Amino acid sequence: MWLHDDCSDAWWQDFGVSMEQSALMALSRMPKLRSEVLAVSPLSLACPFCKVGPRLDCANTAGGFAVVHVARIKKAATLDSLNASRAARKRDR
Ligand SMILES: [Zn+2]
Repeated sequence: MWLHDDCSDAWWQDFGVSMEQSALMALSRMPKLRSEVLAVSPLSLACPFCKVGPRLDCANTAGGFAVVHVARIKKAATLDSLNASRAARKRDR
């Protein structure tokens, strides 16, 4: 059976978004982020959404791009801001 071309791109858009897209989306919803970089890589964490382990991609698109769930990036961004606020508290002392 042939899959229609239009379908092959659509399946993963519901499932996840590309690393760049999801990073931008997660960061744009986090006005309190203190730096332009994430000190915690999403890929160093297990994905809370699909439970894939560290250093593994959540999925790959038909085009071979790695897909990472937004939940995973948010987790990394949360850890990153926790680290940043801990570091700030240390500096204040
Ligand atoms: Zn995932």
